[in-house]
Amino acid sequence: MIIKKKEAQTMKFNGLFLVLSIVLLAGTILLANGVVNVYTDRHYETDDAIFKLFEQTTNIKVNVLKIGSDELIPRLKLEGKNTQADVIIVADVGRLHSAKEEGLLQPVKSEFLNRVIPEKFRDVDNYWFALTKRARIIVYSKERVNPSEIRTYQDLANPKWKGKILVRTSAHVYNRSLLASLIALHGEDYARDWASKIVSNLAREPKGNDRDQIKAIAAGVGDIAIVNSYYVGLMINSSDPEERAAVSKVGVIFPNPTHVNISGMGLVRYAKNHHNAIKLMEFLLSPKVQKMYADANYEFPINPEVEPGEFLKSWGTFTEQNIRLSRIGELGSKAAMIFNIVGWK
Ligand code: FE
Repeated sequence: MIIKKKEAQTMKFNGLFLVLSIVLLAGTILLANGVVNVYTDRHYETDDAIFKLFEQTTNIKVNVLKIGSDELIPRLKLEGKNTQADVIIVADVGRLHSAKEEGLLQPVKSEFLNRVIPEKFRDVDNYWFALTKRARIIVYSKERVNPSEIRTYQDLANPKWKGKILVRTSAHVYNRSLLASLIALHGEDYARDWASKIVSNLAREPKGNDRDQIKAIAAGVGDIAIVNSYYVGLMINSSDPEERAAVSKVGVIFPNPTHVNISGMGLVRYAKNHHNAIKLMEFLLSPKVQKMYADANYEFPINPEVEPGEFLKSWGTFTEQNIRLSRIGELGSKAAMIFNIVGWK
């Protein structure tokens, strides 16, 4: 067959067009599944690895903005409809509850999330869902305290601990949620009485973060502190010798029952990548990812199919407060009021 010059040119052109089409198609396939934008207050390398794994598994690009815990919700509020965020991840049910109350989230219908997350660890209206679980525990000086004398948060109210107790300020959501849990279990009068007795027993004016309370025990400023469980794990395995030395001086007590709280996530009200956002949320509760979370930050997995890491298992089992965390969110402002009344700084 004789091909004329013009026909040859056309074929060449068609060939070029074909190659170009394939390149474009490949590009489209690579980007076919789009993006999901996450605002998070977690700052762990494992979280980056988890998002990378999601990208590889789904072909959905994850853009992550890491923001300080106290700036995330105000920023989302400020951005309103123009926000880029699809999913937020924050620590403490108090913050998740505020995001819901401020109208920043929308409910998610996910059969999977409802199945793998125990009821107490998700919002009653499906506005937020737990990701990991942590305990607010008691640590004590191994040299100066007999741990058999402390079995509950109430035991810290005993006048014999006058001048011995260390805790961060009441402005922090961890303490607000702890007090809210005591209101939920025992009522307002009990909670006010407890908080005022803790104030009378303080070793110093509340200041610093949870790690600072452990360092203060090591320095002999006080004997007993209230801290989140994962900080003990983080300090034991810290690269900072000062942190390792401080934490070696303390023992841990899981009060009966223990206040458990969560880090959790919600779908942003103005999310532009709704479908991908839910895909990511479900992925984060998968057993594989739950294991990664638990191992990285000494937190307890939420998915009951997943066992905690070896370090947490060495602490044994404990009894959790029997409260739906939504209730703790609701009682946060009441707790703040009580802290004000009793003068817990
Ligand atoms: Fe924390």
